[in-house]
Amino acid sequence: MSTLIRQASIIAMDESHGSTPFTGDILIEADRIKAIGTDLGPVKADREIDGRDRLIMPGLVNGHLHSGEALFKGRYDNMPLELWMLYCYPILGATPPSDRLIYLRTMVVAMESLKNGVTTVVDDVYELGGQSMDQLGQVFQAYDDIGLRANVSGHIMDRPFLDTIPFAHEMIPADLKAKAGALGLPGRDDYLAFCKAAAGRFHNRSGRLRFMIAPSAPQRCTEPLMLAADELARSIGSPFHTHILETKTQAVTGPEFHGKTLIRYMHDLGLLHSGTTIAHSIWVTDEDIELMADAGCSIVHNVISNQKLGAGIAPMRKLLDAGVNVALGSDGICSNDTPRMFDVMHAAGLLHSVSSPDYDTWIAASEVLECATIKGAKSALLAHETGSLEAGKKADLVILDLNTAPFTPRNDLRNHLVYCENGSSIETVMVNGEVVVKDGKLLRVNEADLLGELREAWAAYLPVHAAIEQENAAFHPHFAAIHKRCTSMDVGINRYGSDMPAWKGHNRRAV
Ligand SMILES: [Zn+2]
Repeated sequence: MSTLIRQASIIAMDESHGSTPFTGDILIEADRIKAIGTDLGPVKADREIDGRDRLIMPGLVNGHLHSGEALFKGRYDNMPLELWMLYCYPILGATPPSDRLIYLRTMVVAMESLKNGVTTVVDDVYELGGQSMDQLGQVFQAYDDIGLRANVSGHIMDRPFLDTIPFAHEMIPADLKAKAGALGLPGRDDYLAFCKAAAGRFHNRSGRLRFMIAPSAPQRCTEPLMLAADELARSIGSPFHTHILETKTQAVTGPEFHGKTLIRYMHDLGLLHSGTTIAHSIWVTDEDIELMADAGCSIVHNVISNQKLGAGIAPMRKLLDAGVNVALGSDGICSNDTPRMFDVMHAAGLLHSVSSPDYDTWIAASEVLECATIKGAKSALLAHETGSLEAGKKADLVILDLNTAPFTPRNDLRNHLVYCENGSSIETVMVNGEVVVKDGKLLRVNEADLLGELREAWAAYLPVHAAIEQENAAFHPHFAAIHKRCTSMDVGINRYGSDMPAWKGHNRRAV
């Protein structure tokens, strides 16, 4: 099957054009772009699409996502990470959802992603109490069924949770510590064996799906696990995907636990390299940024999640200028509450302008587009396959109707994409050469049926989760005190908005 798109406006994100639009043709054969140029001449194809009044761009890459949180979208507000985690990643464990609910929870994220022009997701999946192969299989199945490209992880923590939080042992009462300590932890060898088996089973499935190694964070995993996971990631060609320095509490963690920043700690272990992807990177020092740039690693900027959890503002301009590869991500679906990458692009284009009056340093729409496409693909180690429109690459693309309100009247298309469009002008989405969204509708799945089934399944699971929330709320005042202590400490940098008022000392809970 071949498809020819004639005389469309194209933003290719390749090296020669970057984000500069041009008018041209694209020829797609099977799963790949066969040719692209201003005029391909008299070529023939099985199907021809008139590209006039259409914009074609690479599919967006969501560089960091936790689809597992989708059951809790819209459930929490006004809690920082360490408190919010008590409810959506309960410290006392949880009754896992059924395999079918895991499938549906992944599917609702996949459906909204595709309809919003996302063709690749990097889904870091954490199952409380340990992930089974069947649970992981449900996530892969959903992405396989709907037609998305995805890197899907087995996420792991192998340190007792309270050992990962500064001052937890002195500030949490003994009875609660005993309860939290009673929970079993996954063993390193079990995790590595699981990852090897998962890679064997799911890696390269359907030409779109890959298994990814994702130890949670340097303070949440033991050194031997981090080192062994990195070795395994390199051997299977997976990114080494982790979280570093999302919150100020984590900025306190490095000096408290290791006498150095967490980035320096990673560097000294040899864990910063071109396959390393760091979610967040907010509370990094200038020296950290240098180490990251020298190592050629990637970060994922989760600009909406960071606002929702009050984590702080990543120094995006410094990271970009240093040469760190910056991708964009939604992060989890209850710290952002949606996987829509057009929202993320919009926020990334805006937030950094209030960080400094020096407008020469503000983030341009062209930079946002790069981070959401080719740099996202690079962070996922997929830049040879996707992230730009080039001959030889997979045909992962989005066709937008330019006769809609967001594009009328037409000015700079890059600015329209970042500041005017929200995904509502998307007409067609193609992944791996296959049209999976047409006229704004999903072609491979029945969206209404799946949403209906998810509503019913959630209603059945909700009382289980609500009871777990109640139980975990016992930790709330103690974690609030830890948060207050850590955020009052001087760590030498400030990544909050500069006029953040001083602590008022309230511990309001908004569940
Ligand atoms: Zn995350």
